Amino acid sequence: MTHSYVTHLSCSKCSEVYPSDRVQQLCICGAPLLVNYNLRKLAKVLKQDDLLKRNHDLWRYHELLPVQDAQNIVSLGEGMTPLLPMKKLGSDMDIAHLYMKDEGMAPTGTFKARGAAIGVSKANELGVKGLVMPTNGNAGAAWSLYSSRAGIQAVIIIPRDAPALIRSEVASAGSHLFIVNGLISDAGKIAAKAAADFHLYDVSTLKEPYRIEGKKTMGFEIAEQLNWETPDIILYPAGGGVGLIAIYKAFKELQKLGWVDSRKMPRFVAVQAEGCAPIVKAWEAKKKESEFWPDSRTLAFGINVPKALGDFLVLQAIYETNGCALAVKDKEIIKEQKNIIREEGAFVCPEGAAAFLAARKLRESGWMKEDERVIIINTGMGLKYMNKEGMDLPVLQPGDSIKRLSVLP
Ligand SMILES: *Cc1c(COP(=O)(O)O)cnc(C)c1O
Ligand SMILES: [Zn+2]
Repeated sequence: MTHSYVTHLSCSKCSEVYPSDRVQQLCICGAPLLVNYNLRKLAKVLKQDDLLKRNHDLWRYHELLPVQDAQNIVSLGEGMTPLLPMKKLGSDMDIAHLYMKDEGMAPTGTFKARGAAIGVSKANELGVKGLVMPTNGNAGAAWSLYSSRAGIQAVIIIPRDAPALIRSEVASAGSHLFIVNGLISDAGKIAAKAAADFHLYDVSTLKEPYRIEGKKTMGFEIAEQLNWETPDIILYPAGGGVGLIAIYKAFKELQKLGWVDSRKMPRFVAVQAEGCAPIVKAWEAKKKESEFWPDSRTLAFGINVPKALGDFLVLQAIYETNGCALAVKDKEIIKEQKNIIREEGAFVCPEGAAAFLAARKLRESGWMKEDERVIIINTGMGLKYMNKEGMDLPVLQPGDSIKRLSVLP
């Protein structure tokens, strides 16, 4: 069986077509390129049950991924993260069927591993020797680590204010790390110049077409884990919004394959922080694109993106599925995060907690019905965030004993 059913790339705005067998960046019109597949042909030869014999990683969907030759795959075992029922939290929120897709289990600790796995594998297939990426965080860490494994040189440019942990991850991977006294947009400009000067592949968000294909596999997995039933609502903490665009693309492809009900699409919810909510603002004003959000700030650094290149695609996904966009406060995110960890034992990241909080609010407002099947994407593990919890406790000396425990059964 053919490894990939990829046919070509096409522009998300002007529909210009490009071949997928050489390095491509943006369309000449400046918009991102999307990957197309021969789904009609694939539908004839592949059935859902054929997947059952395959490995439990995202490469089980290889026909729907862009890598042509399995030898080019660079993998750290990414994909097939658990879809966990959240019973206690669901009953607290009055949502009967609440699930968490837990991307905290992914290599590198976030779902960025999916984009890096496909992006780096395809770069490897296209003969790329060096790539450059501006990043605020987890994407830079993931692309660094996958590049190390592939033997590709990675040049990573990080704003000075990005979390220290990311610097350490990138530096540990042996990437060429540069710190900019500026914003992610400044890092982006330096990356673009370096790409031209040193013949590097510019893998900034959506400037190469394959990262989205990796993130798309979250959608395939959710459908497969629900036995090919389509959920009612998917809540996603959106920065660049790539994951949301990607999961929507996944469900459209599954519909064309005839693997899920072609009349039902999940409603997509983009969740942002109040300190950086350009997509929410655009959605509230019924706009097709967002505006740059000045002075953006949130402790959920994964969703601190003041202007996304693919904002129009995120908004399109929301409009086309009757979804919505919602901003939540940092303070409340932290409260919800603690609550989730204590109630369910799930050490979610603040971005994931923001999506849970949004579900709570949408249920309270009546937008979400009690018996709807709701999926929260927890995009990463909470351990990646410095947390002062437990740091101010009194310390026992060797030989001391515990005097009192207030909560024994
Ligand atoms: C990158 C990131 C996001 C946002 O992802 P997009 O697909 O770019 O919107 C959310 N959470 C975490 C933890 C991230 O690292
Ligand atoms: Zn175009």
